[in-house]
Amino acid sequence: MTVAMNALHRSLGVHRVLEPAGVLPQAAHRLDADPRIGPDEVRIAVQRLNLDAASYRQLAEEHDGDGDRVRAAVLGIVGSRGKMHNPVTGSGGMLIGVVDEVGDDSPLGLEPGQQVATLVSLTLTPLRLTDGLAQWDGRSEQVPTAGTAILFARSIAAVLPDDLPQEVALAVLDVCGAPAATERVVHRSGHRPSVAVLGAAGKSGCLSLAAARDARAGRLVGVVRDEREATALRAARLADEVVVADATDPLAVAAAVGQPVDVTVVCVDAPGAEHGAVLATADGGTVVFFSMATSFSAAALGAEGMAADVTMLVGNGYTPGHAALAMDLYRHSPGVRSLIEPRVRAS
Ligand code: NAP
Repeated sequence: MTVAMNALHRSLGVHRVLEPAGVLPQAAHRLDADPRIGPDEVRIAVQRLNLDAASYRQLAEEHDGDGDRVRAAVLGIVGSRGKMHNPVTGSGGMLIGVVDEVGDDSPLGLEPGQQVATLVSLTLTPLRLTDGLAQWDGRSEQVPTAGTAILFARSIAAVLPDDLPQEVALAVLDVCGAPAATERVVHRSGHRPSVAVLGAAGKSGCLSLAAARDARAGRLVGVVRDEREATALRAARLADEVVVADATDPLAVAAAVGQPVDVTVVCVDAPGAEHGAVLATADGGTVVFFSMATSFSAAALGAEGMAADVTMLVGNGYTPGHAALAMDLYRHSPGVRSLIEPRVRAS
C-alpha cells in the first residue's frame, strides 16, 4: 500500500476494523475499541451517549419498555461490536466526553481537558464502556456512562458551548444535520418554497421548521402525531399551519397537508413515513429523508408506484457549519426551546 493510501485508511479508521477486513468502520460488523491511541487519533473519556431516536424506539419496543433488558441490549451491542451500532435500525447516535489524550499527528485541533461532542455517528466510533451502564435505567435516549471512544483524523467534534446544559447541547447536536439540510434545500428550491415537516414537534422537526423560516420559505406546515403535540407546536409559533396525521398513513398525511408542498422533511422516528412524504410533495419538489427509520426501497418503489416526480434526498448528518447553525437556532428561537427542553428533561 502506498504511503498516501495508508494515510487515507488511517484517517477514516479502516485500521480499527476487525470484521470484515477492508470495509469502512461504519459498514464494519466489529471494531477494535482498544483505548490505546495511534499518533493520528484522539481518545475521549465518555460521559454520556445520546442514542439515536429511531434506535432507542426500536430497542424499547423490542424489549417491551423494560429498562433492564434495554440496558442489557445496549451493553451487548457495544461489547460485541466495539461501537453502538443498532443492527436493526443501522443507526447509532453521538456522545459527549472530555478529551483525554491527543496523538501528536491528530489534525483535529483538540486539547486534553476540553469537553466535546462527537459529530460523527456512534455507528463508526470505537467505543468501550467501563461502568456496565450502572448509571442508566434504560428508559431514556440519553445514557450517562463512563468509558472511552476513539476519534480518527477525519472525525468531527465540537467543543461544547458553556452557555447551554450538556444534555441540551447533546440533543441538539445529535440532530444538527436536519436544519442544515433543510436550509440548503429551501435555498435551492426557488422563490419562497412551501415546506412540510413530518414529526414537526420533535427535536429535528422543530429545528427544521425554524431553519426553513430563516431561509425564507413560504407556507410552512407542521405535521404532528396528536392534539397534544399540535397544541405545543402551535404555541411555539414555528409553522403557519399545524395539522394532525399519522405519518405512516399516506392518505391521511396527504389530506392533512392539502395543497402539495415544494419541500417535505421527514423527521419522525418511526418506520413507514415514506409514502405519505412523497404524496404530500408536489411534482418537481424535494423530499428530505432525515429519519433513520427510512426504507430506501419503500421510498424509491413507492414514488415510482405513485408516478411521483420528486427528488429524494438522504438527510446527510454532515453539512459544513451544521453544529453552529443548530445551536444558534436553539439559542434564538423560544419556540424551538419550548419543544426541545421538555424532551431533554424527560430523557
Ligand atoms: P424525536 O425528537 O423523537 O422526534 C420524532 C417525532 O416524530 C416525535 O414528535 C414523534 O412523536 C413523531 N412521530 C413518531 N411517529 C409518528 C407517526 N407515526 N406520526 C406522526 N408523528 C410521529 O426524534 P429526533 O431526535 O428528532 O429524530 C428524528 C429522526 O431523525 C429519527 O429517525 C432519527 O433516527 C433521525 N436522525 C437522523 C440523523 C441523520 O444523520 N440523518 C441524525 C440523528 C437522528 P412522539 O414523540 O409522540 O412519539
